[in-house]
Amino acid sequence: MSGRELFYIRRAHAGSHLSGDGPFTKKCEKWLRKKTHCQKALITHSCTGALEMAGILAGIRPGDEIIMPSFAFVSTANAFVLRGGVPVFVDIRPDTLNIDEKKIENAITRKTRAIVALHYGGISCEMDAILRLAKKYGLWLIEDAAQGILCSYKGKPLGSMGDFGVFSFHETKSIISGEGGALLVHDRRFVTRAEIIREKGTNRSQFLRGQTDKYTWRDIGSSYLPSDIIAAFLYAQLEKASWIIQKRLSLWNRYHDAFENLEKKGKLRRPTVPSHCRHNAHLYYLLLPDTKKRDKFMRQINQRGIHTVFHYVPLHSSPAGRRFGRAATSMKVTNRLSGCLVRLPLWIGMEKQMSRVIHETFRLLS
Ligand SMILES: *Cc1c(COP(=O)(O)O)cnc(C)c1O
Repeated sequence: MSGRELFYIRRAHAGSHLSGDGPFTKKCEKWLRKKTHCQKALITHSCTGALEMAGILAGIRPGDEIIMPSFAFVSTANAFVLRGGVPVFVDIRPDTLNIDEKKIENAITRKTRAIVALHYGGISCEMDAILRLAKKYGLWLIEDAAQGILCSYKGKPLGSMGDFGVFSFHETKSIISGEGGALLVHDRRFVTRAEIIREKGTNRSQFLRGQTDKYTWRDIGSSYLPSDIIAAFLYAQLEKASWIIQKRLSLWNRYHDAFENLEKKGKLRRPTVPSHCRHNAHLYYLLLPDTKKRDKFMRQINQRGIHTVFHYVPLHSSPAGRRFGRAATSMKVTNRLSGCLVRLPLWIGMEKQMSRVIHETFRLLS
């Protein structure tokens, strides 16, 4: 918590606007616009919702193909499958675990409509190459920056480089509102439609601004707005976002320094942060030599009261992924590394506990 969450919720409660698009929603959206230089930021009830909106805005139709990594969260694919789209999975880079930009071009077919660049752990994909491909083939570029708030690639904010960008404020992320998300729109031409899709397919937003004298059903859409109570909570977090991320980065760096020696001895691999990327310490992971060693490490450290987790089960190998999508490349790196990854606890205020995590990790792995 940043300290002002309940204070702002009390203010929202004292006002008379508890539904969507109240004063706190506007404050959050202004903050996001300023940080990402987008035309329009719309906060949503989840990043999943924001991805679904991107799928509608991109006009995805049955049979359209969307290129994305398989090492991804379910919603990244589901948002397009809901439109009848086909996720086409491409392998990841062994260093950042992001989509391998060199393997994208071979996966492009006549049916390809979009590329999703998922910035794993807030560490950017190679955007120059991906932007070049999107332009060359006339494809939509959607940035899944769910984990990437206040991160950058060559100085440009994540979420600001494609046609649409999305953030998540789920409680497992760095800046939170319990459930929550945002859609960033960069082309002025899509702003009105985005507002309509978010307001159940109506032009209520334009109506409330006095830009139209009737409020009617205009398009497909759903209810993607969060309550202003949620926005009040979120605004307290956004106000302190830089502070929160500084704190997280100092913890992240402590892990990173501590495990340097184990990496030199070949016991594990640490995350790679390219020098042109700035990240937000969303997560700290280790890559152990193989799945057997990873599982054993997790079992032993969990027995010592330290909760570690792994993710993702590669989408191409999941039941729904097999049914709705297909792999366009070999999935060698995805298959191998997803079985080696373990996430360590990372939360503000864990300085003391961190010493124990580091100590136990050394005992188990050196
Ligand atoms: C968390 C996450 C999502 C979904 O976010 P929600 O806000 O929980 O809907 C989507 N993509 C990625 C990469 C995520 O990490």
